[in-house]
Formats: sequence, structure tokens, C-alpha cells
Amino acid sequence: MPKTKMAGSLLPPISRLQRWFAYCKLCFLSLFYSANPGDDWLLEFMFQPVYHLVELVVPWAGPVFVGLVCCLLSSVVLIMYLCVLPTVLPTLGMPARCVHLLLAHWLLVHVVFNFKHAVCVPPGTPSWAVVDRSKVSTCKKCFSPRPPRTHHCSVCNRCVLTMDHHCYWMNNCVGHFNHRYFFSFCTFTSLGCVYCCVTSAPLATEAYAAQKAATEQGHRNGLLLYMWVLCGGVSVLLTALTLWHMRLVTRGVTSVERLQNRQNQKELRNKDQCFRNVYDHGALENWKRFLGVRCRRDWLCRVALPSSHPPLNDGYVWSSGS
Ligand SMILES: [Zn+2]
Ligand SMILES: [Zn+2]
Repeated sequence: MPKTKMAGSLLPPISRLQRWFAYCKLCFLSLFYSANPGDDWLLEFMFQPVYHLVELVVPWAGPVFVGLVCCLLSSVVLIMYLCVLPTVLPTLGMPARCVHLLLAHWLLVHVVFNFKHAVCVPPGTPSWAVVDRSKVSTCKKCFSPRPPRTHHCSVCNRCVLTMDHHCYWMNNCVGHFNHRYFFSFCTFTSLGCVYCCVTSAPLATEAYAAQKAATEQGHRNGLLLYMWVLCGGVSVLLTALTLWHMRLVTRGVTSVERLQNRQNQKELRNKDQCFRNVYDHGALENWKRFLGVRCRRDWLCRVALPSSHPPLNDGYVWSSGS
């Protein structure tokens, strides 16, 4: 070993300088290296700080968002129980009172049940033990199998069966096994917010007038206005999101596939060919498959009532539509 040390120290200064320069040049060029020269490497390079920031923020952003959703939901439920229902219900007849209570609690149970399942149920990750190795490709990022409709989530750094998107509000990927819970949560939360807004509208109007005239400065008025504004805003945003997902389900595509299909459509149009989504079985059949409905009774047991049934298929094998 002394020989090596001696050889290194005996190198002429110019050679060491050259080696140092070559090393720096290599480091600099490595910043621009791309395995695929066709990629937009400059854009990728410029977005590196953003990727690093996302990597730093993501681990704690998810739990914070889930906690925020829980706090907002709890606050609305408390205000409904303490301020709205005790004032509104006595003014109604018995049948209307029963309908109100049934509707309110049906929505509440659905919201809590679907949120809990959307957060806790894993979306489904492909396993080599289940697939035929000769028939599926391998993910270049996590080296797991990629059955049809599987996509890699860059946030979770894993492949997800029938991936739709990564949801920060759920701190979970939306995929094959929890997509229905995510959709049901959006639907019932939108309906719940509309219900809260409509039920509390007369009280919120009175509270607004009292605040404006400065005749009454109670906490109750502030709480009513807070709930009304929150539910109004959430109902608008969430209804738009729900309608968007309804459209995707009707067409038998996920959010990721829609982007891919648009690209494929463009390419095929340039070749005077038509694109066809092979997973589209027609609107009604697509909905039945998405909701896990096998017979008429399931519309009541599996859709109208909270249900934790699994999807009809395993997420690996997909039949194509006619
Ligand atoms: Zn992957
Ligand atoms: Zn994810």
C-alpha cells in the first residue's frame, strides 16, 4: 500500500489538475444525463428541486390533510347537532322530523364509513406470486409486475392495481380496492354539504343579518356562518369532482387512463384510425362492475347501505368490452 500512496503523491501537478477537472466535468454532465435521449431532460432537470421539495413535504403532508378533514367534518357535525337540528326540528311535523333525522344520519354514516375505508383499505399492489411472469411486463421503477391497468405511483413509489390517482386528502393511493370508497365518500360528502346548507339556510341568513347589524355578537352566529360557508364551498368543489369521476366510471376509464387514451387518440387520428377503450362495457355494465353489483338486491345492500364488499375481479385479469 505504501507504493500506491507514493505513486499518487509522485504524480505531476498538471496530471492531478487534469484529473480534478475531468471529475468536475463528469459531475456537471451527470446532472444532464438521461438514459433516454428522447425525453425532455431539460424540463426534468429544471423540475428536480420541485421533486425534492415534494419528497420532503409528502411524508407529513398526508397525515396533516387527513387530520384536517377529520377536524372539519367533526366541526360541521357538532354545529349541526348543537345549533341547527335543535332549532329546526321542533318547527316541523313528526313525519318531516323523521325524514330529516333519517336522511341526516344516513349521510353521516356513509361519509364516516367511506372515509375510514378510503384511508385504511390498501389500493392493491401487484405480486409476482399471482401473475404469469411470461405474460406481464416489469415496472422499471419498483420492479414489480405490471398487469393491465396497473400504474406506478411516484408518491408511494410502488405500482398500484387499476390506479386512479394519489389522494393527499386520504393519504392513500386510489386504486382497485378502494376506488369505490373514494367515490362514495365524494358523493355522500357533497350530498351532506348540500343538506347542511339547505337545512341551515334560514338560520345562516338570520345570523348574517344579526352580524351585519351588529345587534348580536354571539358565538352561535359565527359558528352558523362558518358552517354555511364551509359546506357551500366544499359542496361546489366536491360536486364538480364527483361529476368528473361519474363521467370516467360511465366510460370505463381511470384518471390515469384518460390521459393515456387522449394521447393514443391523437396518435391514431393522425394515422386515420379510431381509438377504442377495450375496458368499456357500456355505461350500465361499467357502473355495475365499479360498484360490485351482481343482482338487483345489491343496489340496496351494496350501494344504498354502507358495504365493505371487495371488487368483483382481482384487478389482474380484465375482460375487454364488445
Ligand atoms: Zn412500479
Ligand atoms: Zn400513491
